Amino acid sequence: MSEIRYNRLEDNYVIIAPERLHRPDYMSWSKEEQSVTSCPFCEGNEEMTPSEIYAIRENGSFADEKGWSARVVPNLYKAVQIEAPYLLKSIGANKVWEGFGAHEIIIDTPEHLNSLSKWSQKTFFHWFKTIQARTQDLKKDERIAYISVFKNHGPSAGATQPHPHTQLIGLPMVPREIVRKYERMYSYYMNSGNILMDEILEEEKRDKKRIVIKTESFIAFCPFASEYPFEVMIASDKISSELETIRDTQIKELSALLQELFIKMERELGNFDFNMSICVAPMKKHFDVDVTCRFTIRIMPRIYRHGGFELSTSTMINPIEPEKSAKLLRGVYDEY
Ligand SMILES: [Zn+2]
Repeated sequence: MSEIRYNRLEDNYVIIAPERLHRPDYMSWSKEEQSVTSCPFCEGNEEMTPSEIYAIRENGSFADEKGWSARVVPNLYKAVQIEAPYLLKSIGANKVWEGFGAHEIIIDTPEHLNSLSKWSQKTFFHWFKTIQARTQDLKKDERIAYISVFKNHGPSAGATQPHPHTQLIGLPMVPREIVRKYERMYSYYMNSGNILMDEILEEEKRDKKRIVIKTESFIAFCPFASEYPFEVMIASDKISSELETIRDTQIKELSALLQELFIKMERELGNFDFNMSICVAPMKKHFDVDVTCRFTIRIMPRIYRHGGFELSTSTMINPIEPEKSAKLLRGVYDEY
């Protein structure tokens, strides 16, 4: 039996339809991997990228040379650029921004391994510290209203480079879905005095069925209205609203959680394609986020293609119940 489930956080519906579970659509990473010598993101090939904006480096190493553990460069194929004028024009009834914004690539690790299950906890730690450093720096730019941080891993997730990387796009406006989400969390707080995400996490902790890993400060769970099979959300449990306020001890905890989670996900899905979004709250001048939201990371495996129904209705069909995904990820195989 399928179910139409309501997503309280996104104010959207998802159709959980186990009857549609089938495998022929499964898309996996191309086995023809680019060689290390021609990869612009590999250590030793620094001259193949634009000059670095930021890097975590060994003492004594120089910019744009070997000796880094995470490195940030401008995207060569920018969606927006920081050099463009910060100008909102009107063309008739239409409004146009002149392509202003920041588009950066975080090269997550010098190693060409394309699977996060093989990352060390230190690699996750440096990756997260780099995201923190770049968002903190970009938030100083008054023209930027919102920063999107995401990973595309594998061709069916839109990646064109197999070397692990994360993208960061800073925009002069806040995208509509993000505005709606933060407004919803804010009005929920004003009306009930409660934080929506805390309520969702309390429900998950009571129910237990969808929790994959729980640590002192974070919970990894398959959301009740997961839009993707094996979708996992990691949320900070009452500690942090914003990426920037997560302390080093918590980043270490998060790094261990991510390592364990990706080992579990890969055990079930192989080297799977996925999108990941790392929640960055809109700038304070746009929203008061301190008390109304929680930091989250969302991992969306791209196992099935979307069709016309999903595109025309913005409603996803997920053939795997989140309870089943969580159970398999926890390593519980009875009944299946
Ligand atoms: Zn590489």
